[in-house]
Amino acid sequence: MTGKLSNYRRIVVKIGSALLVDLESGVRRTWLESLAADLGAIWERGGEIIIVSSGSIALGRRQMSTHDASLAGRALKLEESQAAAAIGQIALGRVWSEMLGDYGMQAGQILLTLGDTEERRRYLNARDTIGQLLAWRSVPIINENDTVATNEIRYGDNDRLAARVASMMDANLLVLLSDIDGLYTAPPSEDPNAKLLETVDAITPEIEAMAGESASVISSGGMRTKIAAAKIATQAGTEMVIASGKVAHPLKELDQGGRSTWFAASKNPINNRRRWIAGTLETSGALTIDAGAITALKSGKSLLPAGVTDVKGGFSRGDTVLILDSGGRTIGRGLVEYDFEDAKKSKGRSSDELTKSLGESYRSVLIHRDDMVIE
Ligand code: GLU
Repeated sequence: MTGKLSNYRRIVVKIGSALLVDLESGVRRTWLESLAADLGAIWERGGEIIIVSSGSIALGRRQMSTHDASLAGRALKLEESQAAAAIGQIALGRVWSEMLGDYGMQAGQILLTLGDTEERRRYLNARDTIGQLLAWRSVPIINENDTVATNEIRYGDNDRLAARVASMMDANLLVLLSDIDGLYTAPPSEDPNAKLLETVDAITPEIEAMAGESASVISSGGMRTKIAAAKIATQAGTEMVIASGKVAHPLKELDQGGRSTWFAASKNPINNRRRWIAGTLETSGALTIDAGAITALKSGKSLLPAGVTDVKGGFSRGDTVLILDSGGRTIGRGLVEYDFEDAKKSKGRSSDELTKSLGESYRSVLIHRDDMVIE
């Protein structure tokens, strides 16, 4: 692809259930093949792709309705939708794996529950795994783990899940493909004069009011959850676009300037994130570092175990710790990648020594530069 999409390196693409699954005939293979070809073109030019795919409940329900006709066309009970997701997800994963495989891409499945993006330890784990898949040039296929999600503890719609994934992975662009081609000044089904907005610079109360309620029968989203997703993504520095997936080759179409609504990313995303680390989290320990490490951190590097001279506290991986100089003055804080005991054992040791004694599986960085604020 040579148009607009080539400006973005890391792209999250969210695909709604209604595009993937036809309640009569199952997976919409021809359409999906055309999407896989578009994804292949992005991937070939070096782009990184993360897919957030809905459809497990719709697909599982369809498969089970051949055994139990009463399942079609009514609301499912919680345990029915959990079980339908179990059946649908395995089929969905296989389809993705086959379709992407045709274009040389390796798919890897990740099922997330709400806590995986809200709790810091689990957030770091999920981020590392998705990051490793991308480093391998694989394509993560993500969905909510609907088999264990309950009504109280769930994202519930994949628009917001996709936005959280985009923000977690510092994606450059989030593409929401659905059955509508963008945000209109009013819901088009209610107002024939409604106009498509091509760009949205800020999500104001007026923009929120344009969303209305427009969820369709087989998807849980609607324009409201898309606007909520736009807030999460744009605050994290990710641009977002809503475009129609009802056409063949939907990304090629978008690339060539197809109808869509683009949401601009916030100008100061890093500051927001750093303010969050700096201001809102309690600290659970402290790492004292040497002069060489202070210079490295100030020039934007991550903190390695070698630069640490003392470790205090009782923290766990993902907790916030203070970073101190040798005189005990606070120079910053960050989210630590090691548990307390491991941090103590590895302090002052070089990466080579740690590889020798712990093997390749240890984590080289004690605090990642993206998870750190220097005061
Ligand atoms: N996680 C749900 C599924 O795969 C979809 C949620 C949504 O439609 O946004 O069936």
